[in-house]
Amino acid sequence: MASPNPVMVVIEDDPQMRRFLRTSLRSQGFQIFEADTGRRGLVEAGSRKPDLIIVDLGLPDMDGIDVIRALRRWTMLPIIILSARSAEQHKIEALDAGADDYLTKPFGLGELLARIRVALRHSALNPQSGDSEVFTTGGLRVDLQKRLVSVNSHPVHLTPIQYRLLSVLVKHAGKVLTHRQILNEVWGPSYLDNTHYLRIYMSQLRQKLEADPAQPQYLLTESGVGYRLQG
Ligand code: CA
Repeated sequence: MASPNPVMVVIEDDPQMRRFLRTSLRSQGFQIFEADTGRRGLVEAGSRKPDLIIVDLGLPDMDGIDVIRALRRWTMLPIIILSARSAEQHKIEALDAGADDYLTKPFGLGELLARIRVALRHSALNPQSGDSEVFTTGGLRVDLQKRLVSVNSHPVHLTPIQYRLLSVLVKHAGKVLTHRQILNEVWGPSYLDNTHYLRIYMSQLRQKLEADPAQPQYLLTESGVGYRLQG
């Protein structure tokens, strides 16, 4: 689905950060369009047919979260947010508003490219995600149709809630999910504050799926934000 030269719209007011993104992403074959305000960014995003949008949360004219909400009214394109370390709560709101992933400044080129790859792969898979019934990453295999889970070919028995939690993560593999997003999908909207449920079930899942639950390879913690299934 991703074209050979994916198009990106970068919405960021900091000229140095834009220069870093422009030089590093162009050298990787990406086509970059830039905007230094939220408003201009929305116009660029609407006119350049991007494959991915990068949004800085601290913009001069509007809140980056409102930019994401405005984008989500018409597009499901992957959105990666850039946030300052001091904007932890902001980052979570942005993910809840529909962003796919985030990078905390300062970040390196390797990290940026890894996130972009995952986001593009995810969006390329998305149209058929209903048909892709078997998910694998490393030794973990989840057959969504037969509801069978195995690790290194050994079948693993999960309780209904454990399976539900795992299948939500599989559906969004590679993407960071906030605590609230997972609680909403697994338990429903009246459980959004019950993060202890999530901690308990995540720990049970790790006991069953990870070789070393203290050093998970599949069920990764995004500190202070949520979880990500290695995709
Ligand atoms: Ca900024």
